[in-house]
Amino acid sequence: MQTPAPVDYARATSVDHALQLLDQHGEDARVIAGGHSLIPMMRLRIASPTTLIDLNDLDELKGIRVEGNEIVIGAMARHAEVLDSPILAEHYPVFREAEKLIADPVVRNRGTVGGSMCQADPSEDLSAVGSALRGTVVIRSKSGSRTVPIREFHFGPYMTQVADGEILTEVRFPIRPGAGSAYEKVERRVGDWPVASAGVFVVVKDGVVSDCGIGLTAVGAEHFSAPEAEEFLIGKAPTEDNLAEAAKIAADSCNPISDQRGPADYKKHLAQELTLRALRRASAASQGA
Ligand SMILES: Cc1cc2nc3c(=O)[nH]c(=O)nc-3n(C[C@H](O)[C@H](O)[C@H](O)COP(=O)(O)OP(=O)(O)OC[C@H]3O[C@@H](n4cnc5c(N)ncnc54)[C@H](O)[C@@H]3O)c2cc1C
Repeated sequence: MQTPAPVDYARATSVDHALQLLDQHGEDARVIAGGHSLIPMMRLRIASPTTLIDLNDLDELKGIRVEGNEIVIGAMARHAEVLDSPILAEHYPVFREAEKLIADPVVRNRGTVGGSMCQADPSEDLSAVGSALRGTVVIRSKSGSRTVPIREFHFGPYMTQVADGEILTEVRFPIRPGAGSAYEKVERRVGDWPVASAGVFVVVKDGVVSDCGIGLTAVGAEHFSAPEAEEFLIGKAPTEDNLAEAAKIAADSCNPISDQRGPADYKKHLAQELTLRALRRASAASQGA
């Protein structure tokens, strides 16, 4: 890797200041969070921002909290905080299961939730979790803030709804009492990006699935989600046959590509098997097993 091209640097002191700096430095300025994706891209000259606006001092973007019936994760929350959060462990163990398998402690100590969502890598683990949980992201600009469903946030590899002059400030998830959740990933070696991953939540009430969400990454699932499979499962008993059929529908909706991580048909097979395993564990957890 080369060294990056020369770049100006500004350290924001508040979100308003960061927005002002973005406005001042124009469309070639980029915010930097953990830098684990942006710096390598700059070294490879895939990205050449003229100014880096550092968000690392912004306490208002940090932390994980409950607000009403939602969990709010600040854009600058690190992977390590998500991994260790008692709030997320209580409501959505899927986060902990996914985070344990993201990279290594060095990356997890620095990389952020906001950076991961905004990088929009098609193999990003947290995008699958966010999509499964049907969360929302809050995006701020100088003219105010807007809330976007995660399932509408990514509109292609490396492309999101965050426009020039905007910053993602937080990610929000509804709390669903009685939900079980689980994450399943196959990686080529420990700490690697996924060959395929599935994250799910399931709520079982009175013997039927009253709500569920299925997220998939690295397998070409549109918006990292499998809505037809969710529709199939809701209202049905969480039997092995119904979970298997939902997993099949989820895999059928994926469109993986063959690459260095594996051939497309293998990834499709994994999408089905990992979805089934995650659904089994999440529905068992929802039933208190
Ligand atoms: C060796 C290695 C292994 C990895 N393995 C995995 C893995 O297995 N699974 C996985 O999911 N990820 C993996 N990652 C990625 C990791 O999760 C990164 O932390 C993440 O991609 C980017 O987060 P960051 O905070 O470092 O973002 P940065 O690199 O700082 O930024 C990434 C992009 O997002 C933009 N951005 C950052 N924050 C904001 C914001 N608040 N608002 C608007 N735009 C913003 C930046 O301008 C930039 O374009 C790996 C990374 C490395 C280096």
